[in-house]
Amino acid sequence: MNENNVLTIIVPCYNEEPVLPETVKELTTILNNLITDKKVAANSKILFVNDGSKDKTWALISRHSAESELVTGLKFSRNYGHQNALLAGMSVAVKYSDMMITIDADLQDDVNAIPKMVEKYHEGYDVVYGVRNSRKTDTFFKRRTALAFYGLMRKMGVNLVPDSADYRLLSKRATESLLAFKERNLFLRGMVPLVGYRSTKVYYARKERFAGESKYPLSKMLHFALDGITSFSIAPIHLILYLGLLTVAVSIVCMIYVIVEKCLGHVVSGWSSLMISIWLLGGIQLISISVIGEYIGKIFSEVKHRPRFTIEAENYTEKMK
Ligand code: UDP
Ligand code: MG
Repeated sequence: MNENNVLTIIVPCYNEEPVLPETVKELTTILNNLITDKKVAANSKILFVNDGSKDKTWALISRHSAESELVTGLKFSRNYGHQNALLAGMSVAVKYSDMMITIDADLQDDVNAIPKMVEKYHEGYDVVYGVRNSRKTDTFFKRRTALAFYGLMRKMGVNLVPDSADYRLLSKRATESLLAFKERNLFLRGMVPLVGYRSTKVYYARKERFAGESKYPLSKMLHFALDGITSFSIAPIHLILYLGLLTVAVSIVCMIYVIVEKCLGHVVSGWSSLMISIWLLGGIQLISISVIGEYIGKIFSEVKHRPRFTIEAENYTEKMK
């Protein structure tokens, strides 16, 4: 029975030329073992999604897929981002696969968790999260900010699996449900728990990048975190309401104070208090407007209904037929 289940390992790649040969080697070994052990079907595949790389990533993928039956590739017309690359891989693979595993190209995620995920699939789970058992390899800064982010998301009512990124297994039906989400602002790790089904976790140690540099510099990371919050929660807008109510309460107290002072005949120069309130209120208003603007911007990009990606070339379907 097990050997009828097709597995596709989806790997997003953006300028991954330095690591790719090693990634191909390690994933091929893992997949070959799974096939020999009859845990997955013989026509299981690795699908590399080239997200508009500027280096020789696509040439490498093409070469490897010509040499190996297990390796396939998909090429975007330009860079659409990590999350879209994952989604595109799934949308192409879902037709022929019973389960899909997404994993980064840089070998930070331990490939040995793959057989464990497949094992869980055979036990009847539809969603298997890869969860890192420590953040030793992260910088102090990334560790703290990640922790704060998960805390904040939980407070705002967003259900995330802490310390799990985009390393996970999804069954065919879980992937189909995920693909039915039509949003353009993708935050997959927030969407997967919404899909439901039976889920479990597999723990692994996250390593340093094998080669090359992180494609998530601080600015992109912050943007991604903000996107995660504003795509899943309107708590910031509620917060503005409370902030406004608080400001009004404080101003009522101030008003009483001012009137009492006036009645007592004290002539107050009032310059400092005026300056402070103008700046403070101005700041609060600007922040509030920008929060609302963030949501309006989201609505703007959603209503345009632009395609989430354009596939320029792909040899997965051909190899699966
Ligand atoms: N990635 C992508 N498109 C992008 C940026 C990144 O497909 O625009 C891929 C990248 O090749 C890697 C994965 O997303 O496979 C995670 O990126 P990275 O390892 O640089 O992020 P980090 O581990 O530093 O958070
Ligand atoms: Mg990485």
